[in-house]
Amino acid sequence: MPTTIVWYRRDLRVDDHPALLRAAECGRVVPVYVHESELGGRWAPGGASDWWRHHSLRSLADKLSELGSPMVFRRGRAADELEQIARATGADRVVFTESIEPHAQEHDDRVEHALGRAGVEIERFAANLIWPVGSVLTKAGEPYQVFSPFWKAGVRSGEPDKPQPAPKSLKGPETAPKSLELDDLGLLPQIDWAGGMRDRWNPGEPGAWGALSAFIRDRLDEYHDARNRLDIPGWSAMSPHIHFGEVSVRRVWHAVSGGLDWEKDQGREHYLREVGWREFAQHLLTHFPQTTDKALRDSFSRFPWSDNDDHLRAWQRGRTGYPVVDAAMRNLWAEGWMPNRARMIVASFLCKDLLIPWQRGAEWFWDTLVDADLGSNTLGWQWTAGCGADAAPYFRVFNPVSQGEKFDPDGDYVRRWVPELAKLDKRVIHKPWEAGEIELSAAGVVLGEDYPERIVDHARAREKALEAFEQIRG
Ligand SMILES: Cc1cc2nc3c(=O)[nH]c(=O)nc-3n(C[C@H](O)[C@H](O)[C@H](O)COP(=O)(O)OP(=O)(O)OC[C@H]3O[C@@H](n4cnc5c(N)ncnc54)[C@H](O)[C@@H]3O)c2cc1C
Repeated sequence: MPTTIVWYRRDLRVDDHPALLRAAECGRVVPVYVHESELGGRWAPGGASDWWRHHSLRSLADKLSELGSPMVFRRGRAADELEQIARATGADRVVFTESIEPHAQEHDDRVEHALGRAGVEIERFAANLIWPVGSVLTKAGEPYQVFSPFWKAGVRSGEPDKPQPAPKSLKGPETAPKSLELDDLGLLPQIDWAGGMRDRWNPGEPGAWGALSAFIRDRLDEYHDARNRLDIPGWSAMSPHIHFGEVSVRRVWHAVSGGLDWEKDQGREHYLREVGWREFAQHLLTHFPQTTDKALRDSFSRFPWSDNDDHLRAWQRGRTGYPVVDAAMRNLWAEGWMPNRARMIVASFLCKDLLIPWQRGAEWFWDTLVDADLGSNTLGWQWTAGCGADAAPYFRVFNPVSQGEKFDPDGDYVRRWVPELAKLDKRVIHKPWEAGEIELSAAGVVLGEDYPERIVDHARAREKALEAFEQIRG
């Protein structure tokens, strides 16, 4: 009976996994995860991502053992480890879900080449996107750089394939290859800073299904109205589960779109459209791989950024003096996540109020987000800075006070993450500098001591930003 290796990366599930199904149909199955710590170079996974990956792998390994074939963990170069496992188990084929990011695709090619020379066959499966890259192009065959036409063309191209159920059982190899313990991969932090993430998340396939079912049952119908709120969970918080492939986007699509009336079901339609932004981001990254580090729009190479380390640190630590910005940054630090509206507010503040290069923000997000994703992070930062695809117009500078008042109207989000302001009335919680001495003192706040003074004045910072943008327009 043939033996097949399933090489796992960012497809940490057993459901709707064409590579695993193929291996199970062929005979014996050896699921493998190889930790390559250097892969990705500057964009190698950050601390929060590694924390998630560890727990997601734990959950997957438990499931694979239950199905009959324990997971093998290795560290080192994937080509070497896979070849060695193939020799040890007599496997003649390696199957895997193909990568999305350009650097990872090049890596896939190198591994395929090396294994081919060693006489091991390779089979790749596309299962991490709804529409394969290159299948959604303009009439002229160019990549879309604006979301709406991309989305319309994608939807016109038809429904994604139906997801396939997980195999009912697996046959393990005749000879079990050597495996490290998951802990040996060194994915968990040396100093435990992950308490907030443990409380908040349930990484792994069952956690993903639980989160998706609860969202569909309780919040999907109101999604279009509630998704921007900071104080109530109108969003799905599925991003880390989707990023790590704990649930396939096809599964998400079909779970949400069942019986969809595109005209009437605003919540469902809007949700699929947001999942469409993820597709857009992944397609753009493949077409424009340089955009992880360089603005898509060339004129931005002349932008007069200001690298102020004190301001960057204040932003990272949630000590800018703008409560909604600080709440979001502390939310990120504690839970490795923040809602989309919060991401837009803090990104606009960094790039436009502080004029700090968007790349500094992207790097911080990369290390701290549990859903850090090269395509979505790059698009999100370039969009906010005004230098990317379908970007926010340069003159759109988010006002952190009015954004807070609109999307956190009672100040509950701020109260939760900036507890030193918790006793302030909602009239002033987003602008404590407008509270009188008596009001501040009754709330136990001394500005500049318990909570910082504003590091910049938004009205003046906005003027400066507009002048800077004018310089590169001419
Ligand atoms: C500056 C900035 C950086 C970002 N960095 C990341 C990142 O590293 N990883 C990441 O997954 N998302 C990123 N986003 C996009 C978005 O903020 C998150 O996907 C979203 O907040 C995740 O929450 P959710 O799962 O509740 O989303 P929901 O609103 O429930 O949306 C459902 C799913 O659609 C996808 N999605 C939604 N909005 C977007 C979007 N704007 N771009 C791409 N995909 C989207 C996600 O997979 C998400 O899980 C970033 C946005 C900004 C403005």
